[in-house]
Amino acid sequence: MRLILLGPPGAGKGTQAAKIVEAYGIPHISTGDMLRANVKAGTPLGLEAKKLMDAGDLVPDEVIIAMVDARLDEDDAVNGFCLDGFPRTVPQASALEELLARKGAPIDVCLRFSVEDAEIVSRITGRRVHKPTGDIYHVVFNPPPADLDEADLQQREDDTEEVVLNRLEVYRRQTEPLEKYYWERGLLRDVQAVGDMDEITAGALEVLGEYEPVPAQS
Ligand code: AMP
Repeated sequence: MRLILLGPPGAGKGTQAAKIVEAYGIPHISTGDMLRANVKAGTPLGLEAKKLMDAGDLVPDEVIIAMVDARLDEDDAVNGFCLDGFPRTVPQASALEELLARKGAPIDVCLRFSVEDAEIVSRITGRRVHKPTGDIYHVVFNPPPADLDEADLQQREDDTEEVVLNRLEVYRRQTEPLEKYYWERGLLRDVQAVGDMDEITAGALEVLGEYEPVPAQS
């Protein structure tokens, strides 16, 4: 299964990706997570990306495309992958299409998560990441278990209201055109993105099952 999760920041792509990759045994390739790992490790890429990320702006296409190209060459991606946060611009989408065509392994489906802006702002500003595991919680909608150490829960620097509003603007301007891009290729499918999390997962897995059944668990 080779899929793309498309939707604004805070649409729940990361949370749903975690469930989908578990069901299909494929890697979760989140360009945001990869960039944050580079920032943390202080790599030249991380240093270049940090300012843009903190402001909610996009990292240049060529940087992101090279990073994803290398990642898709890794062994664990041969049987599929779940892309989360990539592509985010039309040039990224065409670069992806070209590099997957070279591998003879095109995208199966692009799942679109649609959520209203007001809902997004409240979701994102309440979002907390559990540092040791990377698990994502929300102070109201998905509170962390009581036994988690609060000091391990962190708000991302770009999850403040001011930055979220810019990220949404960037999404509408640069990423939303991808809906048409994938629709024209017959790859776009809508999934319910609001409501109970388990129901959202069930809905996403149902759509994916039309392309490839969930593998039997060993
Ligand atoms: P995310 O975790 O997907 O919300 O990404 C966090 C930030 O990383 C974004 O606001 C961008 O600054 C940067 N980023 C992640 N993925 C991409 C991408 N595909 N293209 C450009 N910038 C990206």
